[in-house]
Amino acid sequence: MTPPKISFEFFPPKTLEASFRLWETARALAPLAPDFVSVTYGAGGTTRKLTHEAVTTINRQFGLEVAAHLTCVEATRAETMEIVQSYADAGIREIVALRGDAPQGADRFTPHPDGFTNTVELIEAIAARGDMTIRVGAYPEPHPDSPDGDADVAWLKRKIEAGATSAITQFFFEPETFFRFRDKCAAAGIDAPIIPGILPVQSWAGTKRFAATCNTTVPGWAEDAFQLAALDGPGAQRALATSLCVDLCEKLIAGGVDRLHFYTLNRPELTHEVCTALGVRPLNAAA
Ligand code: FAD
Repeated sequence: MTPPKISFEFFPPKTLEASFRLWETARALAPLAPDFVSVTYGAGGTTRKLTHEAVTTINRQFGLEVAAHLTCVEATRAETMEIVQSYADAGIREIVALRGDAPQGADRFTPHPDGFTNTVELIEAIAARGDMTIRVGAYPEPHPDSPDGDADVAWLKRKIEAGATSAITQFFFEPETFFRFRDKCAAAGIDAPIIPGILPVQSWAGTKRFAATCNTTVPGWAEDAFQLAALDGPGAQRALATSLCVDLCEKLIAGGVDRLHFYTLNRPELTHEVCTALGVRPLNAAA
């Protein structure tokens, strides 16, 4: 099996302790030579400065290609494009362009009166500069704002036509979920790479809460398996998380997937184990 190209998502730290954790995560995963890493942008734009600092520091210190997440939430068009310019000034060449979710307290996304009203507008504005690689989100299971899966495929096509060159998916549990989506995208004429987003299960309770917010189906077999493993303690749950994640990735690779994006939650161990099991070797391992 040829090892896949890999990439990692980090989130920006809000405390000193979290800064150390991000640093340790980047340090542990950088030797796996990811294609790129990405840094999220807090809901409502709350981490604007922290995201910028995390993106530029990781790029500078680890020499990694970093994609900065950016949303349309709570900002004018001018403010949003200032952020893009600040990345360009710092030598960052990749943006993950997103609409974003409603800020805390609001129940749905409402554009800023002078802001981008949707992701396509944001992508068009960034693409017009001509200096950024643009990645976007994609939804193998219907996004909470979407009437059905077909609408997500149609909208992804608009995002690609607007200038995005690859998409990273929401996490999912079963390879068939991804393959069905990939086939629908291909049938709709989308030929940009669609990179599966992989969430190693750090905590089963946390994963289920996250799944509920983003419409990810939690299969009964996974619930049963984690309940059973819980009886044998954290070691058993961790072993289960690793083997399920490796199994999912192997099936994706067997189905033709050649790149995987890991949601690390700033915890490197599981992701590192899974990548190693897939044949990804640290750069210095040959020596
Ligand atoms: P879009 O793809 O623009 O919209 C989602 C769905 O809603 C579409 O598929 C479509 O069905 C429907 N839709 C929306 N607008 C329209 C329209 N105008 N016309 C027709 N249909 C429409 N959130 C953060 O706050 N910060 C992050 O850093 C972050 N990173 C993410 C990374 C990835 C890889 C993913 C998959 C999600 C991330 N999110 C992040 C979550 C994301 O902001 C939410 O899922 C948000 O609700 C949708 O953003 P989007 O750009 O993917 O939306």
